Amino acid sequence: MRNKFAAPTRAAASAAALLSLVLVPQLAMADEPKGDVAWDIVAGLTTEVGERLAGSEAEARARSWAEARLKALGFANVRVEGFPIRGFVRGIDEAHLVAPVPQHLAITALGYSAPTPAKGIEGEVMYFPSLDALKAAPAGSLSGKIAFVDHAMRANQDGSGYGPYGNVRRQGPAIASKLGAMAVVIRSAGTDSHRNPHTGATNFTDGIKPIPAGAVSNPDADLIARTFAHMQPGGKPVRLALTLTSHAQDKMPSGNVIADLPGRDPSLPMIVIGCHLDSWDLGTGAIDNAAGCAIITAAALKAQEGGAPLRTIRVLWAGSEELGGYGGDAYAKAHAGDKHALGMESDFGADRVWRVQYAFADANKPLADKITAALNPLGIVTSAGKADGGTDVEPIIAAQKLAVIGLGQDGTHYFDLHHTPDDTLDKIDPAMLDQNVAAWTAVLKIVANEAGVIAAP
Ligand SMILES: [Zn+2]
Repeated sequence: MRNKFAAPTRAAASAAALLSLVLVPQLAMADEPKGDVAWDIVAGLTTEVGERLAGSEAEARARSWAEARLKALGFANVRVEGFPIRGFVRGIDEAHLVAPVPQHLAITALGYSAPTPAKGIEGEVMYFPSLDALKAAPAGSLSGKIAFVDHAMRANQDGSGYGPYGNVRRQGPAIASKLGAMAVVIRSAGTDSHRNPHTGATNFTDGIKPIPAGAVSNPDADLIARTFAHMQPGGKPVRLALTLTSHAQDKMPSGNVIADLPGRDPSLPMIVIGCHLDSWDLGTGAIDNAAGCAIITAAALKAQEGGAPLRTIRVLWAGSEELGGYGGDAYAKAHAGDKHALGMESDFGADRVWRVQYAFADANKPLADKITAALNPLGIVTSAGKADGGTDVEPIIAAQKLAVIGLGQDGTHYFDLHHTPDDTLDKIDPAMLDQNVAAWTAVLKIVANEAGVIAAP
C-alpha cells in the first residue's frame, strides 16, 4: 500500500477504515508495522516533529525527540552537541509569467536565496538551455534580467545524475549573479513530472552578491521552454514576476545527536554510522532523511542480538546537512580525540540496497569478502568504485583516514521526491525499509566483531 506506484495512500486507506469502523478507530492503523524500530522512528519523526529545517525551532524539537527516543531504545552516552549555523528562513514563494501570456508557475526559493522586496520584482527572462550555456554568456549580458536555466535531469539507479544536474542549483545562481542578473530561476533538479518544485541549497561564495534564486517544477520549466520556442524569436519578450522573500540568517542554533552502543573491547576503534536529522521544509523529510536515521539505528540495535559486539557502534544523527554539511564538520572537530575505524552513512532514501562498495586496505580483502557473502542473499552485489561515505561522516573519514563501506540504495525514484512536498511517509515501503535494516545489520555484525585492524586503502 505504501508502494509509490499503488493508488491508495495510507491516509486514504485509513480514512476508509475510519468511515466503516468509527467505533474502533485504532483499526484504521492496522497495517502499521508495530514494534518495528525503523518504522517507529521514521513514522515518529515525520508525525511527531514533521519538517526539520536546519537552524529552526523544528530542528531543535527534533533533537529533543531524538535524544529521548535514543535513550528509550537503550543507547548509552546520548547527548546533543550544539553549534551555530548560517541558516535560512522560508518566506513567500510566488512566480508567474507576465508576458507574452500570463501563467502561474510553481516555484520554491533555493536555500540562501536573497529575498526580493515583499511586493516582488519583474523582469525580462533570458533562456539558457544548460549550465554550460549560462557559463558562456558574455560579461554584463544579464544586467537587469532574470536568467532561466533549463536542463533535464534523468533518473538513474546510482543517482549519479545529481552531480552534474545538481550543479545547476549549486553553481548556477552565483554564475548568473556574476553576469549581472537581477534574479535566477532554474528547472528543478528532479526527475518527476509533478507540479512540485525541488528546493535545495545554492552557494553564493565569498564576494558574489546573493540574488533571488528559485527552482520551478518540471512541468513549469517545460512551459517556460515552450513559451520561448513558440513565441520567440521576434515575439514579445518573456517577462517574469517573482516574489521570493526567504532569507539567510546568521547565528541560528543547530546540533548533532550522538549515541553509543558500547562494545566489549573499548580499546578497539569504534564504528561510526551517520544520517541527518534536519530536512527541507516542503515535505516532512521522510526519505531525506528520517529513513536513514531509522535504518542505521535499528541495525545498530539488531547487531547487539546475541550479545554486544567487540567494537562500539556510534550513531550520529547530524544537524544541518542540507544547508552545507555543518553537522559532519562539527562532529569531526568535536571528536578528533575519539578513535574511529570505519565510517558509513545512509542518506539516499528508503528503497532497497542493491550494491556494496568498499574503501579498505588490501589487507582487509578477507573482511570485504565476508561482508559480500553475507549481503548476497539479500540481493546485493559488489560494485566497482570506492565507497565515499556521505556528507555527515566524510569529515571524520577524511580527518582520521577511516575505512568506508557504502551500501548503495536504488536511486531510480529518489529524485522524484527529493526536496519536494512529496517527501512524506507514505512513499516508504516497509518491506524495502526492512531490507535496508537487514543489510546494515549484516554488515555491522561483521565489522563490529572484527578484532583485527580495519584500515583505509
Ligand atoms: Zn539527505
